[in-house]
Amino acid sequence: MEDCIFCKIINGDFGTEFVYENEDAVVFKDINPKADTHLLVVPRIHVESLNELNDEALLGRLMMTVKEAAKKAGLKSYRTVINTGKEAGQEVFHLHIHILSGRIKL
Ligand code: 5GP
Ligand code: ZN
Repeated sequence: MEDCIFCKIINGDFGTEFVYENEDAVVFKDINPKADTHLLVVPRIHVESLNELNDEALLGRLMMTVKEAAKKAGLKSYRTVINTGKEAGQEVFHLHIHILSGRIKL
């Protein structure tokens, strides 16, 4: 989607390094980390938020992607967060799952 920062990242416009990727999603480091390790799991399709996602199977695969990316990053313990809606702190309106590990500053 035009004007979506995460779509541009997925498209490779900024040369962002993906720490993990598969058919459904890319995973990259958060630019403003709130933990020692802070990754974002971002589906390749543009969906504004969890409220707009109706594909149950994709949601399942995204959670499996969290697990796979955490494993690849060597994380045994981590927190997953999905902010849905402005009042909940969502700033980028392309669905993403935060993976936070180590000291978490939230
Ligand atoms: P939200 O608040 O929407 O749940 O999370 C958005 C996250 O995306 C924030 O933690 C923010 O630091 C991160 N972010 C915003 N723009 C960029 C960017 O251009 N590159 C990367 N790597 N992270 C970004
Ligand atoms: Zn997008």
